[in-house]
Amino acid sequence: MPSPADVAPNTLISTFPRAPTTSDSVRIKCREMLASALQTGDDYIAIGAECDELGAQIEEYIFFKFKNTDMKYKNRVRSRISNLKDVKNPNLRRTVLCGSVSPERMAKMTAEEMASDELKEIRKNLTKEAVRDHQMATTGGTQTDLFTCGKCKKKKCTYTQVQTRSADEPMTTFVFCNECGNRWKVCC
Ligand SMILES: [Zn+2]
Repeated sequence: MPSPADVAPNTLISTFPRAPTTSDSVRIKCREMLASALQTGDDYIAIGAECDELGAQIEEYIFFKFKNTDMKYKNRVRSRISNLKDVKNPNLRRTVLCGSVSPERMAKMTAEEMASDELKEIRKNLTKEAVRDHQMATTGGTQTDLFTCGKCKKKKCTYTQVQTRSADEPMTTFVFCNECGNRWKVCC
């Protein structure tokens, strides 16, 4: 029997099966970005969460779903990161840190499930901002059915990805609905 002093606060999390290691540089980078998103604020310290392991597990489930690291995988990782880092939605991050939302569930959640009311408000503002700053060209983007338009619910969109900050920051994706002209951006 270990004495109470030997028992780390995160004993429960440590006893979960560990995510298998990977040598894939894209996957390693995504695990690091997920771990760093979980370390937003000080909650992870108070909770005693193992962010590296949680990040690796979330990534593992995402990789398991897509079986490769192409755009769908990357978009899934990016949407997790932006929601985990959202200062207006700290409860999402906290529920993952303390285990009430499992890494598997976090890997699968839809944008609506992750979003707080505040986040919905921000999304509305970002749409206006995206129209203003003209960063999204109406032509020349890539056609995709990955995004569903919030206005007309069609999936006929064009997107472009822009490196808005330093080179090692995730890209911002600008989406334009070819059906109704709605524009928005997805950022990390
Ligand atoms: Zn539309």
